[in-house]
Amino acid sequence: MSSILYPGSFDPVTNGHLDVAFRAARIFDKVIIAVAVNSEKKPLFSFDERIELLKHACRDHKNIEITSFQGLLVNAVNEFKTDAVLRGLRAVSDFEYEFQMALMNRQLNDKCETIFLMPSPEYSYVSSRLIKEIAFCGGDISEFVPDFVTGAIKAKREKGSVL
Ligand code: ADP
Repeated sequence: MSSILYPGSFDPVTNGHLDVAFRAARIFDKVIIAVAVNSEKKPLFSFDERIELLKHACRDHKNIEITSFQGLLVNAVNEFKTDAVLRGLRAVSDFEYEFQMALMNRQLNDKCETIFLMPSPEYSYVSSRLIKEIAFCGGDISEFVPDFVTGAIKAKREKGSVL
């Protein structure tokens, strides 16, 4: 059974993340989306909230699992026994960082291959950071995230959360 690990912060999940995850779910038997526990970043959504939003977004995809990981990605690949790591490539600007990460991960564990998928062009400029900034300035983000994510960001804004 083929499986792939899709790591990220997903703060919050966007249609760009989902586009890549759903493409992978058509190729691999199992896609494991793993929310990274990163104490250095200050996310808008708590860890549990990010997991819940992802679970809801992937509820119709039986071969997508949502989980978390802490520490080195190469260790998570071993722990979850996946064949590869999935990353989304939006634009050339993603490439340099992703290239460095992919080679470093393979250096740390020569079985850790990274597979890149490109989203549909309409999501190629979508990032969680940009979505949050637009929403907090009162802009319309409905094309870029599922409805319940729009609602969740709106609720954070109304509660006085800051970015
Ligand atoms: P970001 O905060 O940049 O949205 P994440 O850490 O949540 O990033 O991203 C996890 C993975 O999803 C990364 O491989 C990232 O390149 C990818 N990704 C993020 N947004 C998109 C998008 N719009 N299209 C394709 N891949 C994406």
